[in-house]
Amino acid sequence: MPRPLCATIHLDSMQHNLARARSCAPQAKVWAVVKANAYGHGLERGMKGFATADGLALIETENALRLRELGWIKPILLLEGIFDASDVPLLAEHNINSTVHCVEQIKMLEYTQLYRPIDVHLKMNTGMNRLGFKPGEYAAAYKRLRAIPGIRNITLMTHFANADELEHPRLAIADQVQRFQRGAEGLEGERSLSNSGGVLHQAVLHAELQNDWVRPGIMLYGGTPGGRTAQDFGLRPTMTLTSEIIAIQQLVAGDTVGYGSRFEATGPMQVGVVACGYADGYPRHAPHGTPVIVDGVRTSVIGRVSMDMMTVDLTPVRNARVGSQVTLWGDGLPIDEVAAAAGTIGYELMCALAPRVRVTEGRLGTHG
Ligand SMILES: *Cc1c(COP(=O)(O)O)cnc(C)c1O
Repeated sequence: MPRPLCATIHLDSMQHNLARARSCAPQAKVWAVVKANAYGHGLERGMKGFATADGLALIETENALRLRELGWIKPILLLEGIFDASDVPLLAEHNINSTVHCVEQIKMLEYTQLYRPIDVHLKMNTGMNRLGFKPGEYAAAYKRLRAIPGIRNITLMTHFANADELEHPRLAIADQVQRFQRGAEGLEGERSLSNSGGVLHQAVLHAELQNDWVRPGIMLYGGTPGGRTAQDFGLRPTMTLTSEIIAIQQLVAGDTVGYGSRFEATGPMQVGVVACGYADGYPRHAPHGTPVIVDGVRTSVIGRVSMDMMTVDLTPVRNARVGSQVTLWGDGLPIDEVAAAAGTIGYELMCALAPRVRVTEGRLGTHG
C-alpha cells in the first residue's frame, strides 16, 4: 500500500477555469501560464488541462523544449526571456516567443544571426520595478528591436503589481495602464497587460484593459489573486490534497502534542495524526486553527506541523478512526483559506507540493 497522501489533479476544473478566463476577456487570446511545473500540477497536466489555450507561458527554455517534445505546437512564451545568448538559436528553431526586458537581451538578439523569424514580447516597467524598460525608454528599445532583421511581431507587454485590488492606494491598475499607454504611444503591435487579477477585473476596467493577449495563472488553478474568493469568481479547485488518519491519541487535561509541546489539552480529547507534513509541502507555519476536513467534517490543525505528519483535533468528528479520510485543501476546502490561515497565499502552497507526493488525475468530486 502506498502512503495515503495524494494530490488529485482535476483536469476538468482546469478546462472550466480556462473557459472562465475566456469569458472575462472574450476579445483576448489566452496565454495559460504553466510556470513552476504548472503551479505544482505538473507541466504535462498543464498542457492537457489547457489544451485549448492559445499559448502556454513559462520561465525556462528547457521546459519550453519539453512542451515541444510533448507535442505542443501552438505558441510558447518565455516570461523572463532568455538568460544567455546561446538560447537565441533555440527560439528560432522551436518557434518560442521570448520576453525582452533589458538591453542585455536586445544585444543577445543583435549579435546572433536568426535564420528564422521570431516573435517577442517587449516588456515595459510601469511601476512594478522588477523587469522591463521604463516608459520613457520604451520606444527606443522598440526601435532597436525593430531594426533586427529576424524579429517579426513585437507584442507590447507590462505586468501589474496590484491587480488583486481595483484601486490600490500606492499603485492602482489604472496608474500602470496610464503609464503603459504613454510609453507605448504610436507603437505598433498587440498588447498584453493582464494577469489573473487583471482578467478578473476586466468587466469593470474593460475600457482601460485592452488586451490582445491575457496571461492568467492562478485563476486557472482555482486560486484567487486576492480579494474575493475563487468561488465568488466561479472558479473550481484543480488540486485536492488528501490523506488519512494514521493514528489516534486520547489526551487528558495537561497533555501536550508534538514538537515544542505547543498545544495543551484542557480536558479529555482525541487527536488524529495525519500522514502529511512540511516535507510534502504543507506549510509548517500553519497555526492552531488552520482548517482541515476529516470524514467530511471541518476541524483544525493543532500543535506543530512536523516533517511527515501533522495533528488535528478530532473533537467534532464522530466515529473518527484510523483510515478516516482527510482533505488538506481543494475540493470542499479552498486552498486560499488554508494559505491565509498559514500567512501565505494559495500560489505558494500549490507550487510547493513536494515531489514525493503521489499525484493522480480525477474529476472534481470523485477523488479520495
Ligand atoms: C506569473 C505571471 C503571470 C500570471 O500571474 P497570476 O497572478 O498567477 O495570474 C502573468 N504574467 C507574468 C509576466 C507572470 O510572471
